[in-house]
Amino acid sequence: MNIDHIYEELQPLITAGSLKRHEALKDLVYTRMGGEADIWAAPVTYEEIQSISAYAHKHQIPLTVLGNGSNVIIRDGGIRGIVLQTSDLTGMGIRDGLLYAQCGAKIIEVSGYALEQGLTGLEFACGIPGTVGGALYMNAGAYGGEVKDVLHSALVIDPDGQLLTLQGDQFEWGYRKSVFASGHYIVLEARFALLPGDPAAIRAKMDELTYLRESKQPLEYPSCGSVFKRPPGRYAGQLIQESGLQGTRIGGAEVSRKHAGFIINADNATASDYIGLIQHVRSAVKQQFDVELETEVEILGEEL
Ligand SMILES: Cc1cc2nc3c(=O)[nH]c(=O)nc-3n(C[C@H](O)[C@H](O)[C@H](O)COP(=O)(O)OP(=O)(O)OC[C@H]3O[C@@H](n4cnc5c(N)ncnc54)[C@H](O)[C@@H]3O)c2cc1C
Repeated sequence: MNIDHIYEELQPLITAGSLKRHEALKDLVYTRMGGEADIWAAPVTYEEIQSISAYAHKHQIPLTVLGNGSNVIIRDGGIRGIVLQTSDLTGMGIRDGLLYAQCGAKIIEVSGYALEQGLTGLEFACGIPGTVGGALYMNAGAYGGEVKDVLHSALVIDPDGQLLTLQGDQFEWGYRKSVFASGHYIVLEARFALLPGDPAAIRAKMDELTYLRESKQPLEYPSCGSVFKRPPGRYAGQLIQESGLQGTRIGGAEVSRKHAGFIINADNATASDYIGLIQHVRSAVKQQFDVELETEVEILGEEL
């Protein structure tokens, strides 16, 4: 795979300045670690996403979609092929009685926009630091709400670049998963069905959830949020806490003292530090409680 050749072929398909070679991803993801993308593209229109996706598919070049990188760890060797980051597609508005938001809009901002419009239903998302695309992919949820409860439909493309609208059962919702885990579709736009509400009550709910989050989570450090899925009938954070792992460090990665379910990037952690600490936590919890912790966070890319 010749990176310069791919770069040259992609140039006419995408707005100038939105395409780079050997781009460091560390500063472009919430976790603040990881290596380079061979090719990095930040499309500004849906058509550009379609063109890049169709190009990658035709030439069998790996294509990785990134939102805000708040649920991924990118290994230190980086990501081969094309990384398509949605950060420049941030529009939102009201159309046909639905709140629509483009894939790269931060779900926190969409939740704030719903408040401005006097619409209730997205309060749960007011502190989730991901994009709309990432939130659909993960069926993101918090404090009793989940994306699946408020999503009406989504505009997506398939690997050939064809536009489709998904609705209802087509999302195949599960706990922190959806049809998007197949890697088959790219989310372009979400349409949320929200109800009219009292702005004061919506704001009060968001303030309450923000207070809960700030008092329990180590938001002053980069991280990927809760590293592990909730094991059946248990809480990962509690098992980690009871295993005495809080404060354990590998390199710059540390099991948070504030919330045991978080591993923070405390001091310029490498992905290798972070993944090493995940493995350490998993084996300690397995040994102590005979519970296999499964990661919620996705690990992408190659080792150095
Ligand atoms: C401090 C903190 C708190 C958090 N709290 C919560 C919480 O309360 N609830 C919760 O559910 N999560 C939480 N998370 C995790 C994370 O924010 C969510 O999972 C979020 O939805 C991920 O969005 P993202 O844009 O960062 O996705 P990324 O991490 O960039 O990507 C995640 C996955 O989504 C895919 N993806 C991204 N965009 C698209 C797209 N347009 N089309 C198709 N696939 C796409 C990527 O390929 C990747 O597989 C938290 C994380 C942090 C750091």
